[in-house]
Amino acid sequence: MAHDHPVLGFDAHDHAACVAAALAAADATCRDHRLKFTPIRRRVLEILLESHAALGAYDVLDRLAQEGRGAQPPVAYRALSFLVEHGFAHRIERLNAYVACARPGASHDPAFLICTDCGAVAEAEGAFERTADTGGFRIAATVMEAEGLCPACQTHAT
Ligand SMILES: [Zn+2]
Ligand SMILES: [Zn+2]
Ligand SMILES: [Zn+2]
Repeated sequence: MAHDHPVLGFDAHDHAACVAAALAAADATCRDHRLKFTPIRRRVLEILLESHAALGAYDVLDRLAQEGRGAQPPVAYRALSFLVEHGFAHRIERLNAYVACARPGASHDPAFLICTDCGAVAEAEGAFERTADTGGFRIAATVMEAEGLCPACQTHAT
C-alpha cells in the first residue's frame, strides 16, 4: 500500500488509486460516524485530491463556479472545515490553503514538505514526538511545515 511510504506526494505513484483510496476512506468514516458526506463536501474533497498541492478556499470556489455550482463562500468554507475537522484534509497555515490528507483513516500529526517552486505538497509522518521533553507542557496540536524544493524541481534547477 502506498500509505506505507514515509513521504507521499512527490514520488511517482498510482494517483488514481490514491484518490480512490482517499474517497473510500472518507465514505467509510462518514458511514461509521454517521456524518453527512454531502455532494458538495465530496466534490470539494475530490477537487483537493486532484493533485498533491495546496488549494486556497477561493481556488476551490472558482472550481465550483466553473462547474456551475455557484457555491457561496460560506458553503465552500463549511465544506473545507468539515473535511479538516474529520481528518480528510489539512489546513496548511503557512500557505493559508488546504490539502487532501495523504493518509486517510490513520490518526496522525502531519508534517508538510512544501515545494516553493511548483507548489507540490507532500505529507510526511512526524511532527513532535508526543513523548518529547516539553517541560511539562502538554501538546495538543503541532504544526510542522517545511519549505524547499521537491525532487523534480531540484532536477530542473541543475
Ligand atoms: Zn496521489
Ligand atoms: Zn493527513
Ligand atoms: Zn517542485
